[in-house]
Amino acid sequence: SREAAAWSVLCPSPSLLLGPGADAPKPETAELLARRQAHLAGAQKNYYAAPPQIERGWKEHLFDVEGRAYLDMVNNVSILGHGHPKLAAAISAQWLRLNTNSRFHYAAITEFSERLAALSPDGLDTVFLVNSGSEANDLAIRLAQAHSGARNMLCLLEAYHGWSSASDAVSTSIADNPEALTTRPDWVHAVASPNTYRGAFRGPDTAAGYLGAITPVLEGIDAGGEGLAGFICESVYGNAGGIPLPDGYLAQVYAQVRARGGLCIADEVQVGYGRLGHYFWGFEQQGVVPDIITIAKGMGNGHPLGAVITTREIARSLEKEGTFFSSTGGGPVSCVAGMTVLDIMAEEKLQENAREVGDHLKARLAALIDRHPIAGAVHGMGLYLGLEFVRDRTTLEPATEETAAVCDRLLSLGVIMQPTGDHQNVLKIKPPLCLGIDSADFFADMLEKVLDEGW
Ligand code: PLP
Repeated sequence: SREAAAWSVLCPSPSLLLGPGADAPKPETAELLARRQAHLAGAQKNYYAAPPQIERGWKEHLFDVEGRAYLDMVNNVSILGHGHPKLAAAISAQWLRLNTNSRFHYAAITEFSERLAALSPDGLDTVFLVNSGSEANDLAIRLAQAHSGARNMLCLLEAYHGWSSASDAVSTSIADNPEALTTRPDWVHAVASPNTYRGAFRGPDTAAGYLGAITPVLEGIDAGGEGLAGFICESVYGNAGGIPLPDGYLAQVYAQVRARGGLCIADEVQVGYGRLGHYFWGFEQQGVVPDIITIAKGMGNGHPLGAVITTREIARSLEKEGTFFSSTGGGPVSCVAGMTVLDIMAEEKLQENAREVGDHLKARLAALIDRHPIAGAVHGMGLYLGLEFVRDRTTLEPATEETAAVCDRLLSLGVIMQPTGDHQNVLKIKPPLCLGIDSADFFADMLEKVLDEGW
């Protein structure tokens, strides 16, 4: 197999790479699952009733303890693919040399910050390094509040920005947090997400409709007299499977927020960093430049790493208070991991691959729409795609149970997939950016088989 051939080139014995114990007997999957549920908080949040016990990965494939291979079509953190030897070598070499916190004057920390600034629009040249997307968004909100002297934040409904205090407060997706609608603090003001497929406003006036819906909220904030700290949203509507925002939407919201002294935060944790193929950052698609960018997930390819990128002037609003420092965020190993990910992305042309393979896959999925009424629409671009299932193309009734059943059936055919969206009726297609065209075709073939056969 491709995997076996790759392993034999890399290393005569996989156990050498996997380390001692790799060949030890594995606990029974069901027994380990019971222990997981007994001791691991949040363990129930797994999209499969009986998830496979994964043992290792290689490129876009995962392998379970029984040796079965799966195509990993929904990986949130791996953009290079699994088991990349160059990344593994760079991380271990740096670990042997030095790992410590980012307070130290160490070349790799400065170099990585410089590289992130160089990837960002002009003026966004100051970087805070953290460990995750939640931390990045918490910090971005604190920056907006410190800079403006106001507390109020504008955000979108049906969005997810993280689990930590402030990022959770602006996370309104009921799929991720059913209490989101009732527990939101008074400084959070959520407005309708501009979903061009199933939202309240569609057609040529979509942007105008959603902007009109924001006006009374902004007027309410103005009337309260406490000012507006900022606005946070994903530049592509990620939770619904990567639906682009309506043309002109962000430019107009940004203008209204800035007119009130607020800052505009682009949460690029999920859609940025080359995944969209046609763009490195999601906000490029809207022709805007945010005041603050947040990133995480793929930038460390699974190694905990996140960042906030902003202007020197905005950064100063927290620096002067001396209230920011992360002990582990952006230490030497993290920065070497981050730089190696960028090197490999360039060497292997992964953003280009996301564009080419993504365009091909999107065309294959679009063809399913003609043959299967349940496939309502394909969203997204590059290797961030969503296939939305509906029971009726006129009422757009979400096909939630059917989507779960398709995911289960795909698993039995060797494809890892999960639903997304507030109705959990969208297949979230988010593979590593190294996805080969053959793997994209395998996924499309398996999906077609499931839809042809019924599930
Ligand atoms: N922002 C977005 C858009 C996300 O999708 C996520 C995670 O799913 C986060 C923020 C939070 O990132 P993390 O899980 O690294 O804290």
